[in-house]
Amino acid sequence: METTFIIAAGIALTSTAAIAQEAREERVAKSAVTEIWEPIPETVQTPEGAPPSDAVVLFDGSNLDAWEAKEGGAAEWLVEDGVMSVARGKGDIRTKDSFCDVQLHVEWRSPANDQGHDGQDRGNSGVFLQERYEVQVLDGSDNPTYVNGQPASIYKQHPPLVNASRAPMEWQSYDIIFQAPIFGDEGDLRRPAYVTVLHNGVVVQNHAQIQGPTEWIGYPAYQAHDCAPISLQDHDADVSYRNIWVRPM
Ligand code: MG
Repeated sequence: METTFIIAAGIALTSTAAIAQEAREERVAKSAVTEIWEPIPETVQTPEGAPPSDAVVLFDGSNLDAWEAKEGGAAEWLVEDGVMSVARGKGDIRTKDSFCDVQLHVEWRSPANDQGHDGQDRGNSGVFLQERYEVQVLDGSDNPTYVNGQPASIYKQHPPLVNASRAPMEWQSYDIIFQAPIFGDEGDLRRPAYVTVLHNGVVVQNHAQIQGPTEWIGYPAYQAHDCAPISLQDHDADVSYRNIWVRPM
């Protein structure tokens, strides 16, 4: 009697375990339907304090080899102590290479000697994507100006979501994710440019739609163009830059 009971219980347990196992296998098989295994993303090394291994370094502190004057000829900005600075009157500089969609990292510093000036005249420079679309560089600490011209604005288009500015002579960073505009064969705009900007690690532009090339006067209007250089603005202020790299996407 007792033996019979033990055998029966054993059979019952075995079949319960088998059912559970079957159910588990079925769930695993179902979960596999939504798994993607290929293509495998490439491995990128991200050493602390250095650009990612797949970045194109545009300025590592040593020279302006990746740059030229926007008006032609060599870039004549100043390079000293691992920093490049605007050489006032020498004009904008731009990369020798052209870029379309990019992730761009730029570190910049407002000068201490512009405190006698206000608004757009204090530490003005700019990071121009494709030589056309400006992310404004300006001394933004206690410096009222029109909000779509303050630091990290898309100049004359989008104010930043917040003002994440640091004081003059403190290093700041922009991390920019830029989607270039797309034009049709007839020069028609198929897709406008979009930009996301982090200023000192804070999101200040969130997939903002760019209206067209940056204009000081008047409204922007797209004109078809190809991939183009990244440029930095000489706006008659001693703004400095360092650690500039880009990842074409
Ligand atoms: Mg500017």
